[in-house]
Amino acid sequence: MFLRKAKKLLSKISYRLAFAYIVFFIPCYMLTFGLFYYFSSHYLERRDRDVIEARLQQIEQLIGNKEIAGLKAALSEEKFHNQINKLLIYISDSKQNTQFLHLPEDSMRFELPVVEEFLKKRNLNFDENWFNIASKEGDDDALEVKAVRISGDGILMVGASTDERDEILERFQEIFLTIFFPLVLFSSLGSVLISQKILLPLAKLSKSISEVKSGHLGSRVELPLRQDELYDLSQTYNEMADQTEKLVMAIKQTVDNIAHDLKTPMTRIRIASAMALQKNTHAELKEAVEETIESTESILAMIQAILEMAKYNTKTVALDKSWFAASVLIAEVVDLYFFVADDKNINIEVECELDQVFADRIRLKQILANLLDNAIKYSPGQSSINILALEEEHFFVFKIKDRGVGISIQDRSRIWERLFRADKSRSEPGLGLGLSLVKVYAEAHGGLALVQSELGQGSEFLIKIPKA
Ligand code: ADP
Repeated sequence: MFLRKAKKLLSKISYRLAFAYIVFFIPCYMLTFGLFYYFSSHYLERRDRDVIEARLQQIEQLIGNKEIAGLKAALSEEKFHNQINKLLIYISDSKQNTQFLHLPEDSMRFELPVVEEFLKKRNLNFDENWFNIASKEGDDDALEVKAVRISGDGILMVGASTDERDEILERFQEIFLTIFFPLVLFSSLGSVLISQKILLPLAKLSKSISEVKSGHLGSRVELPLRQDELYDLSQTYNEMADQTEKLVMAIKQTVDNIAHDLKTPMTRIRIASAMALQKNTHAELKEAVEETIESTESILAMIQAILEMAKYNTKTVALDKSWFAASVLIAEVVDLYFFVADDKNINIEVECELDQVFADRIRLKQILANLLDNAIKYSPGQSSINILALEEEHFFVFKIKDRGVGISIQDRSRIWERLFRADKSRSEPGLGLGLSLVKVYAEAHGGLALVQSELGQGSEFLIKIPKA
């Protein structure tokens, strides 16, 4: 049960970060305290020993000058008394008889028997110098002493209680323990809260992804205030969501358009078929079949365009280049659209200053056909369209200019996208695939497809095919 709960908590990044922080923090805290404790105790020990050593040298000098008899009087002097009142001073003769003993006034636990007992038990090694004498109660408190041999094989011992030092170190330990648990608790809580705050954009991102998944394509994340990696991630996500939404809307629109565009020829086929059943003469039947074939062809052309677009991008178009006469190609394209243009009373003027062109004939014909188809579609009746073919230093150039509806600035960069159709073009049949195909074919030649247009005035499409 507990394990499952812990597992669930650790599955959240914020708790995992907090856990990692604690696992890292506790040893660091203990190490820092350990080092601090070690250096402090070392420093305090050094300080105490310096005092003891200074007094030892002083007393050794006194003994040298005045002998032991004079020492007592000297030690009782007020000035000296203040310096030694916290020290143990012990002097014995060569037979280990006590000659002089001064016990530390701040520690009542050390008396002569304790010192004598210590000396008896211990075979003093004078190379070692420093000893600890436990108090008579046998507790941890000790006198730290230094012993040296003095003239006549006697012993001089000076020491001080380690009580003060031990108390300071004990205080350190208490402080460490008092701080430790609240510190771990507060820092863990703090790290959970901070990581939750830092990871908030991720939580928002996850919420927005769920919303998009459940069909709310308009869901976006609020950008974090700080411009960090999560800001970049949120921004990229919003851009991606924008594109996805646009694409889905375009696909929806295309499906609508396809349905709408298919409806007309399908209805015509149905009516023509129904009429054919009722008509008897050969001529009437022929007319119905012709109507059906015409409608089927427009459906096939639509399906063909969709298949082409799905198949091609600039890199996968395999070109079949050859030399051919530009004027013949343009005439073929104009012928194709003669009746459609004538229907709207549109006049097509051709000016061909180009002789031979080196390109993929079929693709170039598709390019010009698409552009002329659009020019007619988006031009009013009684207008004119100009087709111009000319030669530049490095390019074969084709221009198709109409006096039609024109393209707004916002739409100009988008007309080359697959499935894009400007709002005002909806009344005309189309799938928004023609210009993307034009661009793919022009670029497959290493060339360019450009447009200049003014809303309400007309458009001029420019195709540049490199000569090399
Ligand atoms: P569509 O099947 O809609 O014509 P295209 O890819 O050929 O698809 O063109 C994309 C859009 O560009 C059209 O829907 C139309 O809004 C705009 N467009 C293309 N050619 C012209 C033109 N000659 N005049 C005005 N608008 C044009």
